[in-house]
Amino acid sequence: MRRDLERILIDRTVIAARVHGLGEQIARDLERALGGDGTDQSHGKLVLIPVLTGSMIFVADLVRQLPLKLSLELVGVSSYPGKSVESKGVSIQGELPQNLKGKHVLVVDDILDSGHTLDVVTRLIRTQEPASLRTCVLLRKPGKAKVAFEPDYVGFDIPDEFVVGYGLDYDGFYRNYPEIATLRPEAR
Ligand code: 5GP
Ligand code: MG
Repeated sequence: MRRDLERILIDRTVIAARVHGLGEQIARDLERALGGDGTDQSHGKLVLIPVLTGSMIFVADLVRQLPLKLSLELVGVSSYPGKSVESKGVSIQGELPQNLKGKHVLVVDDILDSGHTLDVVTRLIRTQEPASLRTCVLLRKPGKAKVAFEPDYVGFDIPDEFVVGYGLDYDGFYRNYPEIATLRPEAR
């Protein structure tokens, strides 16, 4: 695996520190939205929605930084089928989470590129009339957004390069690599 990677863009200690910071910020904001201490009032009101599969490692680390009573509902989205590094349009896999009316919802994705994924997902969620809807991405490629989409929380702004690791894949591989890295051209 390591020999397919070109260089490490963000190493694991930097990722961990940032996820910790994001967790503190998000917990503070959600507690405020709930109008309480995040325990009693939050019962059933807080739903975190990871966009699979890329966000799974990030979400696993992030939720453990949130001392709030929340539930997880998954949404599957495919935009980079197989060996492609350009977005192919967004398709929702399976059912979207239901019964989000009146809930405080946080959608979490691995990376914001064209912005289409989060644009589509948040539009669909909004039709269910949640009490609030926030979005969090670990990575953002600035200047590439084809739709004007502003996430509420961004881990890192990165240059316009295809990255893998920490949940992000190329053709299904490298998700388990613990740092965020670029791929060697020969590996594509
Ligand atoms: P968008 O819909 O914003 O163009 O793209 C978002 C999705 O595309 C992400 O959830 C991710 O799955 C995929 N994606 C965008 N850029 C990259 C990248 O550099 N590496 C990987 N592995 N996936 C990416
Ligand atoms: Mg994705």
